Amino acid sequence: MFPTFTLRYSKLPAHFFEPFTPVTVEKPELVAFNRPLAETLGFEVAAFDERQATDWFSGNDLPPGADPVAQAYAGHQFGGFSPRLGDGRAVLLGEVTDRDGRLRDIQLKGAGCTPFSRGGDGRAPLGPVLREYLVSEAMHAMGIPTTRALAAVTTGERVMRRMPEPGAVLTRVASSHIRVGTFQYFGSRHDGESVRTLADHVIERHYPELLEIEEQNRYLNLLKAIQQRQAELVARWMGVGFIHGVMNTDNTSIAGETIDFGPCAFMERYDPKTVFSSIDTGGRYAYVNQPVILQWNMARLAEAMLPLFDSDEQRAIERATEVVQGFSEQYLDAWLGVMRQKLGLVQEEDSDQELIEALQEAMRVGRADFTLTFRQLGECARSEAGDDALLALFEQDGDIRAWLPQWRARLAREGRDGEEVGRDMHKVNPLYIPRNHRVEQALSAAAEGNFEPFETLREMLADPFEVQPGREAWTLPAGPDEAVFRTFC
Ligand code: AMP
Ligand code: MG
Ligand code: MG
Repeated sequence: MFPTFTLRYSKLPAHFFEPFTPVTVEKPELVAFNRPLAETLGFEVAAFDERQATDWFSGNDLPPGADPVAQAYAGHQFGGFSPRLGDGRAVLLGEVTDRDGRLRDIQLKGAGCTPFSRGGDGRAPLGPVLREYLVSEAMHAMGIPTTRALAAVTTGERVMRRMPEPGAVLTRVASSHIRVGTFQYFGSRHDGESVRTLADHVIERHYPELLEIEEQNRYLNLLKAIQQRQAELVARWMGVGFIHGVMNTDNTSIAGETIDFGPCAFMERYDPKTVFSSIDTGGRYAYVNQPVILQWNMARLAEAMLPLFDSDEQRAIERATEVVQGFSEQYLDAWLGVMRQKLGLVQEEDSDQELIEALQEAMRVGRADFTLTFRQLGECARSEAGDDALLALFEQDGDIRAWLPQWRARLAREGRDGEEVGRDMHKVNPLYIPRNHRVEQALSAAAEGNFEPFETLREMLADPFEVQPGREAWTLPAGPDEAVFRTFC
């Protein structure tokens, strides 16, 4: 039933990874399985054998043809460099080719101590496993590039965090798990040959169009292309109020997917300085900082790739700097594109940035819920009958009252039918997001053995744009007693 592996990463030079067999667990139980994803990966879901699946997804049994490895990488964590991080609790079983012919990593997260574990226990608590499951699948349903969740298994063992918690293993699917930190691992060792090997692997796998470019410019274009995907990705995050929480270089994917969901969360009332992560005490990874941090991470990637850009170091630095400086424009374009769509605009006008920023300021002053504001604007595009419900989202509505006619005038210049504009807006402005208090409720219930709230959320988040009758309560922000201000990984 397991699809045939197309092994790639484990065929790279031996110092790119450490062979590692998952450590068996006591009493595995399959608590979540993503059938639609399994089907696209080529699993024979009809012949589903729960016992066998549980053994595979817990690491107790290796699927045929797997070549499990822990990947080596380095990374800047909160600005400080560690030359050797690597998979301390994850194991790549291998790659499979999905129904669309795309290569997909299958990784177990929480699979026991690897040669990279340092002081860690190699395990994952159930709460964070289920949060990653819910949030990554929600991102996918919203059309945002992301790793995905194939299965979650409880281990029957306890892991010690702030309190003892049930242990779990997440089976994660990704275009690849290659990170900015993977380049840094070799770059910081001045191992230019391995940097080139990795870059060639990345080009073949994720950016094959670059094979057309002559070699002396190919790697600089790779940097630019990775930066482009990341600019688009962060713009998408900003467009749904998503705060990753730990944008370390080892959590920045070369394929441009959202990866390593830790203490991530969606913002409710709009405040650009919002931080949820308990470990981000300085607010380095606050909502508004995400694009700036991404550019910083791209500068670290450029440093690691430097020898590939030019044999003359000074010249290589100049070329890399020019590309990294171009991030601001790449990002602004991507962000304007996302925000125009959210506001129902199809044409471009020079004053659009000002219009969007004025809305943000009105949301900030009015402490308006991010998701509901954009959703309700879709109703306002249809008719002015939607305006009262919009204004009700704002604690102070002076600025939004002033803004609405400006936006309507802008829409009028495009002359599209209001119904159609509203419909388009509802296709990009989600109604159902993983609101923190709902996620926390689902996680606490699961810790007590009740997976019903998790199942409800999972089903709801699979379809974020269409109204689901009877589920209005899930669209609402947290009440005063429910609000979650801190998330933990
Ligand atoms: P993260 O914060 O999850 O992005 O992980 C940063 C680094 O710490 C990576 O090298 C992880 O593999 C490692 N790590 C995180 N949690 C554990 C754990 N429980 N045991 C061992 N290593 C871990
Ligand atoms: Mg090795
Ligand atoms: Mg990580």
